[in-house]
Amino acid sequence: MVRRHIIIKCMAAAALFVLMAISLVGSRTVAGPQFSQGQLVEVPVLNYHMVDNLAIPLSISPEQFDEQMKYLSENGYHSITPDQLLDYLEYGRRLPENAVLITFDDGYLDNYTKAYPILKKYGFTATIFVVTGLVGNDPRFLTWNQIREMRQNGFVFGSHTANHVPITQLGPEQAQKELTESSMVMENQLGTKPAYFAYPTGAYNRQAEQLVRRVGYRAAFTIRYGRAGMESDHFAIERIPIFRSTKTFRSFYYRLTAAPILERLGIIRN
Ligand SMILES: [Zn+2]
Repeated sequence: MVRRHIIIKCMAAAALFVLMAISLVGSRTVAGPQFSQGQLVEVPVLNYHMVDNLAIPLSISPEQFDEQMKYLSENGYHSITPDQLLDYLEYGRRLPENAVLITFDDGYLDNYTKAYPILKKYGFTATIFVVTGLVGNDPRFLTWNQIREMRQNGFVFGSHTANHVPITQLGPEQAQKELTESSMVMENQLGTKPAYFAYPTGAYNRQAEQLVRRVGYRAAFTIRYGRAGMESDHFAIERIPIFRSTKTFRSFYYRLTAAPILERLGIIRN
């Protein structure tokens, strides 16, 4: 009995050591065909919602967001666009070192008033998936002028449908309408169609993926936990959701640095 306890303790210590070792490696090198940059990388796609002082999991405080962006900046991370990610995934085009894709869902006003100044301070850009029916119509969400200004400063805007309905709950016609309507509204307001889509509530299935592809989007993002890499399905790209918690920074750090192994071991789930 005692011996078994010791063995379990040793195994736990070994597992912890492996986790710590892995957490020190910024981008995991995986086996496979070599591209010009000499290694295959997996890119963390961070997923935020609100940056505000609301005591809900979807809202991290401006101070917490600043702390996280500061960490990325001090540790040599470079924010990339979805085009850069897809050019890498499709053609093996070179990425900057320690690439990270920072994304926001829903298009809350605080993305402009709170997150945008912090991102600018550290020289980062982000990708925001907006619900077109809410833009300019609900004071809690972004306006088209704010979106235009952020676009001029390198931010990318994608679609999160017209009405934030999980498209797996809709019939094919209604689902297609959500995808095309949001795309048309964005094209009218911004001059170009959105190339990227994020599934409301993360809900997707084969049919939803096929529809998103047929409507003309280049790729789509889920909230399935993990990093984007060569094995990713381009219409169901993994992300790393970041929530408020009692240990927000520690949780951010482990999710960022050790996502693949923690996911495999079942330690972190959405
Ligand atoms: Zn959403």
